[in-house]
Amino acid sequence: MNKFLEELIELNRLERKLKELEPVEASIKAPLIKLENQKKSLESRLEKLDEEIKNIKLKKSKNELLIAELKEKLKDIEEKQSKVKSEKEFKALQIEEELAREQIEAANEEIARFEKILEQKEEEKAEIEKEIEKIEADITLTKVDVDKKLENVEKQKEEIYKKRDELIKKMNPKIYRFYEKIKRWAGISAVVPVKKQACSGCNMKINDKIFSEVLKGEEIVTCPHCGRVLFIEEEDKE
Ligand SMILES: [Zn+2]
Repeated sequence: MNKFLEELIELNRLERKLKELEPVEASIKAPLIKLENQKKSLESRLEKLDEEIKNIKLKKSKNELLIAELKEKLKDIEEKQSKVKSEKEFKALQIEEELAREQIEAANEEIARFEKILEQKEEEKAEIEKEIEKIEADITLTKVDVDKKLENVEKQKEEIYKKRDELIKKMNPKIYRFYEKIKRWAGISAVVPVKKQACSGCNMKINDKIFSEVLKGEEIVTCPHCGRVLFIEEEDKE
């Protein structure tokens, strides 16, 4: 077989292998990415929860402030009551006092309600924190496994890259550029086998003359329809 053609087939074979490792890498990383996404969504839930807790605490403290003010008011009323001169004035103060006491009661009820909500939110928060801890432990374990598998793939890639670089170095630069040009649009299918007398890149039939040239393998033959480099696989030669 033509030496240049042999080199092109080999170069393409190596690049296909590299391409095939991409989904392998992705599937190795997938479980880790899934766990990390789970962790992220729990963390954002936690953030929201913290914000809610902050708001409820604020509302609670507003009510506490209100109660303090109302208690001051009650003291005031008490003082005034001791100094009143008429029944009418006393009655008016009594109404004011009653109103303040009712407001205090309402505020206390609100505070109790907020405390109950806070308790629930804190419980939820603790649960989420526990879940995050569990996922973090999972991530640590999974990462060990993933890194080991990735290292293996990385080794394979390095070997292929090394072979590819060596091959390119000894290749005729013109042939290499020719291949790169086809690769620009054809990607890793720049060099394809002929199957049943058809180019397996574009699936078009090739005529007998070109087919016999491909069979001989004495020259680099491109598909007349798409321009990919054609060859016959060993097992198809008979
Ligand atoms: Zn073709």
